[in-house]
Amino acid sequence: MSTVDADVEIADNPVPVLDLEITEARQARVGDITVRRMLPLRLRRSVGPWCFVDHYGPQDVDGMTGMMVPPHPHIGLQTVTWLLGGNVLHRDSLGTEQMISPGQLNLMTAGAGIAHAEESPAEHDPVLHGVQLWVALPEASRRVAPAFEHHAELPDAPLPGFRTTVFMGELAGSQSPATAFSPIVGAELTAAGGAGPSSVPLRPDYEHVLFVVTGQADVDGAVLAPGRLLYLPTGRERASVTAPAGSSLMLLGGEPLGEQLLMWWNFVARTPEEIEAATAAWRAGEFGEVGGYQGEPMAAPALDLARLRRPRG
Ligand code: MN
Repeated sequence: MSTVDADVEIADNPVPVLDLEITEARQARVGDITVRRMLPLRLRRSVGPWCFVDHYGPQDVDGMTGMMVPPHPHIGLQTVTWLLGGNVLHRDSLGTEQMISPGQLNLMTAGAGIAHAEESPAEHDPVLHGVQLWVALPEASRRVAPAFEHHAELPDAPLPGFRTTVFMGELAGSQSPATAFSPIVGAELTAAGGAGPSSVPLRPDYEHVLFVVTGQADVDGAVLAPGRLLYLPTGRERASVTAPAGSSLMLLGGEPLGEQLLMWWNFVARTPEEIEAATAAWRAGEFGEVGGYQGEPMAAPALDLARLRRPRG
């Protein structure tokens, strides 16, 4: 998926709870799909290297088109596709065609540039539910050759009280096979249900976010439901989670990136000139063809260079 209509100048809406930083998602539209957009925030562009977090569904797509994201380009990031229900077909300019189901990872490294399309297959499950995440590539790696990985087998982390799948980085000694370019963690935790709280180990050199995708949870006294993003700064060694059986949370984190990102449309860059060049390259057809998609590629929105050049606080 992509920031089709993304305006990254979104309003932060912090809710002070027990000195924890919680923000409410902004509703956005990606084609026919309504998403809860949780990152970027105006005051928090990234958490670790994670720079974009959308949660969509569960949405009834029975007898409907479902997801239909036309070919569009990316630079400077990895897209992480993680489903909680349904299925999505990915195609890209490398010639990849890959269906994804819940519990599997589609990881696309855009690096220097790639184009892709994502759609619900013609025969699809009645429910669509997932997260679309972007990882910003660090300066040293952001122009790597584009690549695509599908991981059907991912490790469980041995956390008491949860069924945990690690799809990026490492958690509790379990390492994802997915290619990462900076210290990172991405995991889905589903509560097994129990009397007391469960402890999620955190790396104190990482910052993290936690959000609920199914059900609800209490994290260190903060009540989370879908659409609420809990930020945990560096220095934390654990989070205490109480959740009814079957509730699921996403844990994302990493070493703070320490780089000023410039995000516009589907591009993660550092300067307005890079954004301008990538936009021109897309308009000139230089990202390559995405085969098999029935429909026109996405048109880049009008580029407001003056706004991109405006200093940000
Ligand atoms: Mn995309």
